[in-house]
Amino acid sequence: MDREALWNQLEEAVVHCNRCNLARSRTNTVLGEGNRQARLMFIGEGPGRNEDLMGRPFVGAAGKLLDKMLEAIDVRREDVYIANIIKCRPPNNRVPKEDEAKICLPYLRRQVYLIKPKIIVCLGATALHYVIDKDARITAVRGNWVERKGYYMMATYHPAALLRDPAKKYEAWEDFKKIRDKLIDIKSAKE
Ligand code: URA
Repeated sequence: MDREALWNQLEEAVVHCNRCNLARSRTNTVLGEGNRQARLMFIGEGPGRNEDLMGRPFVGAAGKLLDKMLEAIDVRREDVYIANIIKCRPPNNRVPKEDEAKICLPYLRRQVYLIKPKIIVCLGATALHYVIDKDARITAVRGNWVERKGYYMMATYHPAALLRDPAKKYEAWEDFKKIRDKLIDIKSAKE
């Protein structure tokens, strides 16, 4: 099967997914969006209200802030890929339950496998726990690169956390500068 067919297969599976109870309350599934050959991939927690209504990731207030942060490091949103740990909105935006996340993770793994990004950035503690280290604390490990299975991975604050506590923006900016530098390293290594 070619890549497009594999993506179609994944899209179909997610749109019709009934593997957990979140299927009952969702309006739309939110697979993710962006460049399917991106070097840089972001992983958030799960769709919120706006994302559930639109079927797209990071389109609400947190998404607007993410867009600004990308712009600040000269990266266009359409050049990256943005996904979430879970593809359906949890009621009242609660944190996904462990069984919901575990049931949904094969979809994310498939996305990572198809995209093969060089850099994976986890936005917030939920993505950190399911992708990098289930026991790590975001305040302790944010901004640190982990190299695993050929991916450079980092966690930073979720943009929603920055909206709640703007004092964290300074550290997030430090992290985004590291992301910018890593992208430059990767590009120059290729040339
Ligand atoms: N927060 C997330 O974690 N993901 C989204 O898609 C939107 C807000």
